Amino acid sequence: MTRVAQSRFTGDEDRALLEIMGAMTLVRWEAIAKALHERGFPLRTGKSIRNHHLRQRKASLETPNLAGHIGKNRCRKCGMWRKGHVCAASTVAAASASPSSPPET
Ligand SMILES: [Zn+2]
Repeated sequence: MTRVAQSRFTGDEDRALLEIMGAMTLVRWEAIAKALHERGFPLRTGKSIRNHHLRQRKASLETPNLAGHIGKNRCRKCGMWRKGHVCAASTVAAASASPSSPPET
């Protein structure tokens, strides 16, 4: 088995990884591993690069995002803060006019 680097990814390596991925139409992790090694970065397995990349992407998606936060706490009908608001837009007439809304019981 080949010896594989266990060191942390550096910012330079992350940037090179994204650059290599951006140039590929089809992501092949083993090819990315080879390309990174050719640029002078430590030899890693395709799988370890894949895991690293997916972890990075997940972390960036979970980063608190102000726009997303506001979206979740506002009423979808009137745009007011949902907590404790009496909705002006969500009336019986509005609910029955919308075919996609589930029936209320
Ligand atoms: Zn509302």
